[in-house]
Parts: sequence; C-alpha cells; structure tokens
Amino acid sequence: MAARVIDGKALAAKVRGRIAEEVAQLRVEHHIVPGLAAVLVGDDPASHVYVTSKHRACEAANMYSRQVTLPATTSQHELIDLIDALNEDEAIDGILVQLPLPDGLDADAVQERIDPAKDVDALHPVTGGRLLRGDPTFIPCTPYGVLELLRDEGVELSGARVVVVGRSILVGRPLAVLLSLKGIDATVIQCHSRTADLGAECRSADILVVAAGSAGLITADMVRPGSVVIDVGTNRNAEGKLVGDVAYDEVAEVAGAITPVPGGVGPMTVTMLLQNTLEAARARRGLPRRPSAI
Ligand code: NAP
Repeated sequence: MAARVIDGKALAAKVRGRIAEEVAQLRVEHHIVPGLAAVLVGDDPASHVYVTSKHRACEAANMYSRQVTLPATTSQHELIDLIDALNEDEAIDGILVQLPLPDGLDADAVQERIDPAKDVDALHPVTGGRLLRGDPTFIPCTPYGVLELLRDEGVELSGARVVVVGRSILVGRPLAVLLSLKGIDATVIQCHSRTADLGAECRSADILVVAAGSAGLITADMVRPGSVVIDVGTNRNAEGKLVGDVAYDEVAEVAGAITPVPGGVGPMTVTMLLQNTLEAARARRGLPRRPSAI
C-alpha cells in the first residue's frame, strides 16, 4: 500500500482530550458546564446508536448531556414546544434533533425553530447563511471534521484543487463552501449525480472528498497518483460490513493519503459536535472563541 493512512480515531481522541481540558477550565474559571440536548423521536435503531454515541462522548468530555426520547406518535406541535423549552433552558447550550424524523413530522420547521445560538448541528438557515457569508457561527460537524483532518495532516489547502463528490445540505454543499472561504482558499469543484465525467473531475483533484453514499464509487483509475482522498461515505456491503464510497484497497495503492472507513471521518463528526457545543457555551456567555476555530 502506497498511501499514508489518515487516522481519524487518533485525531478524534486528541481533539476530545483538548475539549475535555477546556471544559474543565470553563468549570473552574467561569462555573460553566456546556450542555447538549439530543432529541430522538421514534425508534429507528441507527438513530438510537448515533444519539447514544453522542451522549457518551459528551459525558466523557465532562459536558452535561440530556437525551430526550419521544415516541414516533409525537405531533409537530409537541416537538416544537419541546424545542421552545430547550431554547429557554439555561443548562442547554446546544440542541440537536436526530434525523430522520418519523413520517408526518416537518424536519425543516423543527430545525428552523432551534435558537441559532444553540444550533450546534448547524442546520438552521441562519447558520448556513453565515457560513455562506464567510462569518460562520457553527460549521456542520462532518465538514468541520474533514477540515480538521486535512489541517492535522498538514495538507496545504490554499490554492489546492479540491473535488467534492456530493452536494447534500448536510455534507457536500457546506463542505464546498467551507473550503472555498477566504482564509482557507481552496479551489473547489462540486460534483453530483449529473456530473458529466466524474472520473475526469476526480482525477483533476489534489484533494478528493467523497460524500455520495455509494459503496465503491471511486476506483483507482479515478484518482490522481499522490492525491489526498477523504472518504465520508458509510455504506453496508453485501456482508453487512461498513464500507466507504472509495474502493479502499485499490485506491490506497495510488493515493498519497487516505481515510479508512470506519476510523476516518466518522469519529471526527461526533468530535466536532462537542467542539460546537463548547463554542456555543462560550459564545452565549460572551467569552471569546478559541483562536483556531473558524
Ligand atoms: P445524500 O443526501 O444522499 O447526498 C448524496 C450526494 O451524492 C448527492 O448530492 C448526490 O447527487 C451525490 N451522488 C450520489 N451518487 C452519486 C454518483 N454515482 N455520482 C456522483 N454523485 C453522486 O447523502 P449525505 O447525507 O450527503 O451522505 C453521503 C454519505 O456520507 C452517506 O454514505 C452517509 O451515510 C455518509 N455520512 C457520513 C458521515 C460521517 O460522519 N462519516 C456523516 C454524514 C454522512 P444528487 O444531488 O445529484 O442526487
């Protein structure tokens, strides 16, 4: 294998350690305990796993974590009332509503009800607008995790040609915006299912980030030798194994550096949720942001 393996698990552990230290410092110096509320509606097993892992990560960082579990029969009105109560709750700095919501509930309306000052999942239109404007309050967790992985690897972003495969509101689109911001300065090409020649676009990349949700979409012939490949995809293959969007074994023979699945982007997503919650707790009390935060 030629490529250097980018270890997201190791970076996540390092960043979570630093966050835990900052949480301890906030407690001692300002008597603040950052608090995250995770709202889970219904009994989707994958959502349960995600919310539990966020809850554990919060507790491990000595943050306050509240998990609110509601039945699938919850009405839009009840959910909105809960968001209103969490918006007013002084112990809560960040609110996340685990998606997808059961049929009949309007996820956009729920996201838009969250106080932008507590929007740690960064899905509120005001948060998205600020990112577009180049003055972000919160960065969506997965794009933020990708940025931190690239920074930690020492990958030069300024002037680099980055190809992002995927344009979802959760990953691809905010990532493309983020990487092209002034101060990060990548040249970004955004691809999607209607891109005419995906292989040619990918081969042009210094850095290729794939968030398509299609196992094995990116093969070795689509990757420029020596380039950096970040695989956001999480898919189950025929054997039920977790795999990315990149044909890992063959692409690792060509790329200069590559993230594995699992153990690449995934651990960084939850980590950046903690980071956003910490930032929210500081910002709500008028404390300055961490210098390296965007
Ligand atoms: P999504 O909403 O389904 O969006 C997928 C995007 O990929 C769409 O823009 C789609 O294009 C594009 N796409 C799909 N197939 C393509 C193809 N064959 N060629 C080119 N573009 C293609 O998915 P998402 O929420 O962005 O998530 C993407 C993947 O990342 C999923 O596997 C998800 O599980 C994973 N994920 C992982 C993490 C993590 O923490 N590791 C976090 C979030 C998501 P169109 O717009 O034209 O349809």
